[in-house]
Amino acid sequence: MNTKEKDLKYIMHTYGRYDVALKSGKGAIAYDESGKKYIDVSSGIGVNSLGYCDDGWVKTVSEQAGTIQHMSNYFYCEQASSLAEKLCSLTGMSRVCFGNSGAEANECAIKIARKYSFDKYGKDRNEIITLKNSFHGRTVTTLSATGQDAFHNYFFPFTKGFCYVEADDINAFKNAVTSRTCAVMFELIQGEGGVNILDKEYVRSLVKFCREKDILVIIDEVQTGVGRTGKLFACQNYGVMPDLLTAAKGLGGGLPIGVCMCGEKLRDVMSPSTHGTTFGANPVVCAGANYVIDKIANENFLNGVNSKGAYLEEKLLKIDGVKSVRRMGLMVGIELENKDAHDIAVKCVENGLLIITAKNLLRMLPPLVITTEEIDEAVQILEKALKQ
Ligand SMILES: *Cc1c(COP(=O)(O)O)cnc(C)c1O
Repeated sequence: MNTKEKDLKYIMHTYGRYDVALKSGKGAIAYDESGKKYIDVSSGIGVNSLGYCDDGWVKTVSEQAGTIQHMSNYFYCEQASSLAEKLCSLTGMSRVCFGNSGAEANECAIKIARKYSFDKYGKDRNEIITLKNSFHGRTVTTLSATGQDAFHNYFFPFTKGFCYVEADDINAFKNAVTSRTCAVMFELIQGEGGVNILDKEYVRSLVKFCREKDILVIIDEVQTGVGRTGKLFACQNYGVMPDLLTAAKGLGGGLPIGVCMCGEKLRDVMSPSTHGTTFGANPVVCAGANYVIDKIANENFLNGVNSKGAYLEEKLLKIDGVKSVRRMGLMVGIELENKDAHDIAVKCVENGLLIITAKNLLRMLPPLVITTEEIDEAVQILEKALKQ
C-alpha cells in the first residue's frame, strides 16, 4: 500500500485531504513523493513560520535533541525559562504556562480566568463571553467556547458557562454582561471564521469596559501571533494589553507548542497541581521556539512581513475573479467573485500551489520568510486556476 492507501485504511477520517503526500521542503517550497514542486502559502496552517527546514532552526532543534530531549516539569529547564523570559519581556506579560497546542493554551486561559474569579468573587461568577464566528479549538471546552453552532454537535454535554455575541457590536457585548461574567475571549482576526478583522475602536472600548468591571480579557493569538500580522502579536497592532494571551501555531516553527501568558494581576492565580501537562515545556520544542522568536522579534523582520503582505495584496487585487482581500501582515483572506473557494483551492494544488480556505474564502498564511519572487509565482498559479 502507498501512503494514501494506508492513510485511508488506518487513519480516522477527521480531515478531508488534498490528493498530495508531502515529503520534503525548504523555505516556501515543498515537494511531494513523486518529486513535484509546490509553493506553499499555507505553511501547515501558519505553523512553519520560518518555512520548511530553516538551517539554523534545524541545527538548534537537532542539537537540543542530542543534549536532552525531555525532562519532566519537576525539574528546571533552561530552554523553557529562557523562552518564558523572552515572551514576557517582548509582550509586557508577567508569566507563561506551557502546553502543546492552541486548544490547550485556551483551556489554560479559561481555567486561570475562572480561578481568578473564584478566588475573588466565589463560585457563581464563571461565565465567559466569546464572539460569534470564533474558533478556539477542538476539546470539549474549547468547542463550547467556539461561537459557531456547527461545532456544537454530537459531543454532548458541552462545558457550560459560555455565551456568544456578535463581533464589532459593543452594545451587544455590554448587554450580554451579567454579574456572572468573569471573562471575554476573542481572536483579533477570526482566522477559521473567514479572516474577519475586528475593528480597532471596538476592541479598545471592549477592553476599557472590561477593565472597569474586572472582567478578564483573553486574546486568542493562536493564529495571529508570532509575527503573522506584522507585529510580534496582533494585540500590539491594536494597542491593547490582554490579561491572558494565548499563542501556538507559528511559535515552535513546526513543533507542537502552546503558551498561555498572563498579566501582572494574574501572576499568582495558579499554584502547584492546579494545571499541568506531561509534554509541556519540552526542551526540544522550546529550543525551536527560542530560535523562532530570536529571528522574528525585530523591527527589520516584522517590517518585511508588512511589506510582503502589502505586495501580495496589491498583486491579488489585480487578478480577474478576486472580489476583495482582507489582510493584516501575512494573514490573508481572498473573497472570490462567484467561484467556490474549495474548488479553486483544489485546482491551485493541482497546479503547484498549496493554499487553504476559511469559510467561503481562500486563505493564505505563507511562511514569513516567503520571497517576492515566490509571491509572484503563487499569484500566477492562482490566476491560472481561476481561469480554468
Ligand atoms: C488553530 C486555532 C486554535 C486551535 O489550535 P490547535 O493547536 O489546533 O489546538 C485555537 N484558536 C485559534 C484562533 C486557532 O486558529
